[in-house]
Amino acid sequence: MHLDQDDATLVQYLDGELSPDQAVALQQHIGECPGCAAEISELVGLKLAQTIKSANE
Ligand SMILES: [Zn+2]
Repeated sequence: MHLDQDDATLVQYLDGELSPDQAVALQQHIGECPGCAAEISELVGLKLAQTIKSANE
């Protein structure tokens, strides 16, 4: 699947590292782009799994 946003940007968004302007623009994009919405949910799932894993260690 072609992604028009790169993974690094999406990860920065999830980590809260984007500027407010960038975050708003990305949020709007995700609302209109099923490809990026799917990628974000995948990244959220991965981060959640990592968090649970580290909490259990
Ligand atoms: Zn997109």
